[in-house]
Amino acid sequence: MTDVARRLPSTRTGTLPAPLRAGNSVAYNPPMTPCDLLIQCRWCIPVAPSDAPIDDAAIAVAGERIVAVGPRAEVEGAFAPQTVISLDRHAVIPGLVNAHGHAAMTLLRGAAEDLPLQDWLNEVIWPLEAAHLSRDYVRDGTDLALAEMLSMGITTFSDMYYFPDEVARCAARAGMRAEVAFPILDFPNIWSRNADEALHKGMSLYDDYRDDPLIDMVFGPHAAYTVSREALEKTAMYAEELNRPVQTHLHENAAEVADARSRVGQSWIYYLHELGLLSPSLQAVHMTQLTDHELDLVALHNVNVIHCPHSNLKLASGICPVERLSEAGVNVALGTDGAASNNALDLLAEARLAALLAKQTSGDTTKADAARMLRMATLGGARALGLHKETGSLEPGKLADLVAFDLGAPRFAPVRDPVSTLIHGAPSGAVSHVWVGGRCLYEDKGFKTMDIDAIGARAERWRDIVH
Ligand SMILES: [Zn+2]
Repeated sequence: MTDVARRLPSTRTGTLPAPLRAGNSVAYNPPMTPCDLLIQCRWCIPVAPSDAPIDDAAIAVAGERIVAVGPRAEVEGAFAPQTVISLDRHAVIPGLVNAHGHAAMTLLRGAAEDLPLQDWLNEVIWPLEAAHLSRDYVRDGTDLALAEMLSMGITTFSDMYYFPDEVARCAARAGMRAEVAFPILDFPNIWSRNADEALHKGMSLYDDYRDDPLIDMVFGPHAAYTVSREALEKTAMYAEELNRPVQTHLHENAAEVADARSRVGQSWIYYLHELGLLSPSLQAVHMTQLTDHELDLVALHNVNVIHCPHSNLKLASGICPVERLSEAGVNVALGTDGAASNNALDLLAEARLAALLAKQTSGDTTKADAARMLRMATLGGARALGLHKETGSLEPGKLADLVAFDLGAPRFAPVRDPVSTLIHGAPSGAVSHVWVGGRCLYEDKGFKTMDIDAIGARAERWRDIVH
């Protein structure tokens, strides 16, 4: 075997070889592997296996998946792309994962300001929804949310709202990745008369979307205080049978926990534990009120916690103890919650707020560093939704869910560390490109699958109807 033959690479997805030279005059060029897209960028932040930025990087994509990530010279030397895109002022990161929201609530943006949670919900939100909700409303509100999320770099979102089939249709039409938690509520609503009907309809949707490349259907009991014990037990049983996640609002504020004590004689966390719902499949949203023992219980059962700091602060609900949870080994993800309590669907703004809260509440500036917050906004979210083997980081084999931020504007200069610029520099408006599963949905700030003018006009019409 010659020297050259011994040095030929056996795979194209591992470490790539430098161009080889045989003898002293004949250049040997290894065969190039074809791929669909090669993205050249100033920085690439893969998040995993390493969260260190790669300077002057390239990402090769074949079909819907990433096939290589690394220094540009290495990737370019090994791949023959159909299309090359050069982003020489940009940072490319994994698509952001919004792990909790109610997309169609964009139509209630600004409708209930400066109210405590229970009044916000009982006096304004639920009556407005009861009066105005329809399939068209959910379609128009969801389309509006999808356009906003995409322009903020969100490629995967979780949703819990009425007409989950309509939400799934909107996401599929836009080309975005969605985990739709079909809503389970005891009281009659526009989508279901009771929890049994919600479970029945939701599981039928699960069958419809079982093999869909973009949409996952999961269980969404709204909260322990709006779903009966019997329905929660059925949810636990069916979710375990189908091996599906369960998302629920849990311990959002102190009044909710006090109410639990008077209704079931214990906190909702102990109550859900008794019903068998604490498990790695549970996505517990909010969790601002936690005793040490409850925190241990959550850690013991590997429950995922979804932190929605903006919504929690706006409704004066409390602060999720993210650092204590993380130190106990709990996976924490980030969510925007609905636009009626936020009012923006900007996940990097949530990451920044979460970092500031963690630093302030711990009195320790070393907590919640930028790399950890970016991981929480990407891989942490994917893990919470059970999608971490497919998305959440830029690694060969994973789906090509990518976002490019143009950090060339003077307001970011000089960029010393692109990761801290992403978390603390408020760069959401600098998103230039978004790909989901290798498909470009947003290019040079233009939507490729959505008619943004029509979406905006439809939303404006609802403002005059919903009040
Ligand atoms: Zn919520």
